[in-house]
Amino acid sequence: MSGFTDEIRSFLCSQRIPDDWVCDASMVGPRRYKRKMEAEGKLFAIVREPCYNGHYIRSHKGHCMQCDTSRIAYVLRHYKEAYVYIAGSRSQRLLKIGWSETPYDRAEHLNSIGYGAISDWELLYYGSYPEAGKVELSSHSRLSWHMTPRGWFREGVPQDAREIFKCSYTEAREAIRRVAGMEGEGEWEAHWVKRKLYEPKEEKREALAVIA
Ligand SMILES: [Zn+2]
Repeated sequence: MSGFTDEIRSFLCSQRIPDDWVCDASMVGPRRYKRKMEAEGKLFAIVREPCYNGHYIRSHKGHCMQCDTSRIAYVLRHYKEAYVYIAGSRSQRLLKIGWSETPYDRAEHLNSIGYGAISDWELLYYGSYPEAGKVELSSHSRLSWHMTPRGWFREGVPQDAREIFKCSYTEAREAIRRVAGMEGEGEWEAHWVKRKLYEPKEEKREALAVIA
């Protein structure tokens, strides 16, 4: 059963909240939905247990978004000024684009939770954007063709990682640049030798050159 009922959809629509920003945690217990939100990088969640007014949409802090819609703006504002980052897994040849207020230790964090059942995440890029959340989500949809959803377990709870892509670093970086329409502030990039490991096309070209 999906948590996206007609009632919930019309509320989201009236508040201009795209479905993409909402985690369906209607099958998850009240103590688990926050982790699911974090894992999926969502701002809001549809929860299993309603508030005392019969609402189902919560923020990460557990506030009911329907009882007090002014809280939505607060959540969105928080979502704005942040870093967009790219992390990569060499073993799986996959990239993740996410957002964070503290991107510096993101790779360690992803490894510690085994995000996407992967434990060799390394940070490749970060930059601060005034609308980080929008940049992140738009670059996801720009790369949707490369999306490689992975099911995984966090402390025994099934999760769905939808921020993982099978594409080159250049493609991921370019997607961010295009949707942001600007360079990020305080940008950092891993050394080019490391980044080059995430350019499968280049590798292929080199391999073909060897054969020729
Ligand atoms: Zn409520």
